[in-house]
Amino acid sequence: MIRRDYLIVGAGVAGVAACEAIRSLDKKGSIMLVGAEPHAAVNRPELLGGILGPKSSPIEKLLTHDDAWFSRNKVDVRLDTIATQFSLEQRAAVLANGQAVKFEKALLATGSRARRPQVAGANLGNIFYLRSAREVAALREVLDLEKNAVVIGGGFVGVEVAAHLRKLKLGVTLMTRGQFAWSRYLDAETGAWFSDYLAGNGVKLMLGEHLNGFEGRTYLQRVQTKSGGRIDTMLAVCAIGSEPNLQLVSASPLWSQSGCPVTERLESDELGIFAAGDIALYPNAHMGGMRREEHWDAAVAMGRHAGLNMAAKKMSKFEYVPWHQSRVFDLQFDFVGDFTRPPTRVEIEGDRNKKHRFVLACYQLNKLTGYVFCNEDAKKVQKARTDFPKMK
Ligand SMILES: Cc1cc2nc3c(=O)[nH]c(=O)nc-3n(C[C@H](O)[C@H](O)[C@H](O)COP(=O)(O)OP(=O)(O)OC[C@H]3O[C@@H](n4cnc5c(N)ncnc54)[C@H](O)[C@@H]3O)c2cc1C
Repeated sequence: MIRRDYLIVGAGVAGVAACEAIRSLDKKGSIMLVGAEPHAAVNRPELLGGILGPKSSPIEKLLTHDDAWFSRNKVDVRLDTIATQFSLEQRAAVLANGQAVKFEKALLATGSRARRPQVAGANLGNIFYLRSAREVAALREVLDLEKNAVVIGGGFVGVEVAAHLRKLKLGVTLMTRGQFAWSRYLDAETGAWFSDYLAGNGVKLMLGEHLNGFEGRTYLQRVQTKSGGRIDTMLAVCAIGSEPNLQLVSASPLWSQSGCPVTERLESDELGIFAAGDIALYPNAHMGGMRREEHWDAAVAMGRHAGLNMAAKKMSKFEYVPWHQSRVFDLQFDFVGDFTRPPTRVEIEGDRNKKHRFVLACYQLNKLTGYVFCNEDAKKVQKARTDFPKMK
């Protein structure tokens, strides 16, 4: 029987950050990192630009840690390996190769998967659902062969992909059910400005539109809209959100509809079992209530904090003000705070139209809930995080 002091399931950024943190406190404890993909964490904020950009980088260049780091830090890495069972009573996991691993402490960091639409034709060829680096690389390979594409979804991945495809000179239609892209983040006026900006860069927008289905035999030939439209295309990217990978712990107290519930120490009610990254449903004293983040910085911070708590004699609370970024053509955005609901009112400082440099303070009635920064100084963004008021 294989025994390890620490078992980390999921070799994405949260899992790798946890290994790093554990090693910083515990130089000798045995660590096993199990990951379904053929490589450990890829720098996702660089992934779309890195692979879809004009000088496409190989995946190896986008890895956050190389093999040498894992061997130097004595992390037993099992890649291309899925954990298929996880027993709370036995404190053991089973790997797809049949091995059972007993652990003292475990971290679940299995991330999320791309949501698939429940429509006809969703499995046709040349429809891409982007999650892993391999999937982005597969998309890159066909881009030189196609002239136009439909991108479905007006969230971060959808908008960024649309911009990269335009830069590669494809005709791009971006379909979103909102009245504008990023409709949870922007007010109507800024949303209209953003639509004009995208259109000015050649992205054809279909706003307030829903996907009805995909047509084709074996591979895609047409995208249908709910309003009866049909767009001829042989390439679609479907970016309609993600779902947490909780299959491993389904039918256990570590499962809930909204994520794997943990305490402010990122530990579950099962002592010694922690969760971090996209799957973790954690209490956020700053924003109020239980939250699940789906962003890079949060996954790094949670992975690191969970790792420290796993190895430390005394655990500490995870305190976090959400922050993430997005780059679209020549606009650099930073988002700080809570965007679970669209703002009911905003205050703008700066110049949206000419200089493309502004800050939106977003409110729910009179309560400040977040900031959107466009082409603003990094120091200003970090100050907003540090000074962000508690929401209670
Ligand atoms: C294309 C794309 C671009 C993005 N760009 C940005 C960005 O610019 N900025 C930003 O803030 N966020 C971005 N994100 C989101 C960000 O990447 C995620 O929030 C973050 O990577 C989550 O990290 P994680 O470690 O929790 O999960 P993941 O990175 O998803 O890693 C989890 C890993 O666990 C593996 N796994 C799952 N189940 C098992 C199992 N049973 N056994 C073994 N392994 C398993 C998965 O295969 C995966 O490799 C992007 C996401 C995507 C898909």
